[in-house]
Amino acid sequence: MRLEFSHCGIDMIQLIRGFKDILPGEVELWQKIERVARELFEDFGYREIRIPIMERTELFKRSIGEDTDIVEKEMYTFPDRKGDLVTLRPEATASICRAFIQHKLYSQDPVQKYYMIGPMFRRERPQKGRYRQFYQIDAEIFGVQSGLADVQLIFLLVTLCKRLNLADVRAHINSLGCPRCRPAFKKALTDYLVSIEGDLCPDCIRRRNRNPLRVLDCKVPKCREALIGAPSLQDHLCEGCRIDFDLVMDSLNRLGVSFVIDKQLVRGLDYYTRTAFEIQTTSLGAQSAVAGGGRYDNLVKELGGPDIPATGFAIGFDRLAELVALNSRELIQVPDVFVAALGADSQKSAFEWVCELGTGGIRVEMDYGNKSLKSQMKRADRLGARYVLIVGDDELKSGSAALRNMATKEQVSVSLDNLVDNIRSQLETTNS
Ligand code: AMP
Repeated sequence: MRLEFSHCGIDMIQLIRGFKDILPGEVELWQKIERVARELFEDFGYREIRIPIMERTELFKRSIGEDTDIVEKEMYTFPDRKGDLVTLRPEATASICRAFIQHKLYSQDPVQKYYMIGPMFRRERPQKGRYRQFYQIDAEIFGVQSGLADVQLIFLLVTLCKRLNLADVRAHINSLGCPRCRPAFKKALTDYLVSIEGDLCPDCIRRRNRNPLRVLDCKVPKCREALIGAPSLQDHLCEGCRIDFDLVMDSLNRLGVSFVIDKQLVRGLDYYTRTAFEIQTTSLGAQSAVAGGGRYDNLVKELGGPDIPATGFAIGFDRLAELVALNSRELIQVPDVFVAALGADSQKSAFEWVCELGTGGIRVEMDYGNKSLKSQMKRADRLGARYVLIVGDDELKSGSAALRNMATKEQVSVSLDNLVDNIRSQLETTNS
């Protein structure tokens, strides 16, 4: 635990390395992204699903795969009080599949579409854009074998980026084949890996025999360089996978979605088949992947469910927010009205008006102490309030108060009867 001494000499507890606070000022941006994403997904018939933050460790081992970075070294796994191994979720797809199977959601309609938003946990080496608690926005489609489902997901990602005014994003796609075409590719790849063994890191050498595809995902620069000449899955696709990938490319073209075919895109999880995709940017330095996903036709069956194909993606919310922040003005919500009260009686009335205005949908703020008008005006200004309602004992008696437009410095008198309506119409006048 990292301790620091605060100004009064008491140990101050800092947050855990790789975790972060999302503070007011930044939260507004997150809320906006969430709103835009929810609206888009719901228009396309995706329904929200909420899954637990913790699952049995076995679920992630079986779905993500034993030889992956996540399972080998990144999961927060610990025995609970009874000694059962549990894990803080490192991703959402496994849990969504578990819920899909456990609640027999497939019996409701053959096609199910879900989205979820929430935190994930991976004990990676923290750096900008890479955290140990980070957030993802996930979408999954169950029950569609056609690559059109993959296309819809890529289209949604690209549309979301457009709605968030992001220009510097690009879809990367690849096909990872299926159990029918993978054996021949694995053989060709293994032969190649033997020939470049001297350039590979110890992890890659160890994974070469157990899971050679995983080697293609290695982030070590020397390995990546040595892998440039590796055989491509594209050259080994079976007829079914080829036809499906052609459909994906053709449909993306028809929708005007530009993409690059990225033969090194294999994704870090074992369960993917056929189309894999990422949304990448050059604006975030090393952490170029904003979102990633792909088809996982065998996972539901492998987790004990029926043979139902599926596909999905995960957006890195933190990275998306960083990208949106680079492209948009601050989104801090300023008060519509600051109520500046002078004197004890006005203060009491002001407090009630604040409650009324707030419940009437007007963003409102006040000073809760008995400060001078000057200091209240200063605070209203600092908060960026659009109007200040100035109320003293005389105004209370007369039943009207001054409403000051902070931008134009103009003041009008508003009746304290029907205050919410009066202020709303004043706000509407300035909005129009
Ligand atoms: P993955 O589940 O690994 O396919 O990741 C999907 C997306 O989540 C990535 O494209 C990143 O944007 C984001 N992501 C993954 N790991 C992290 C992390 N440790 N910190 C922040 N974002 C992450």
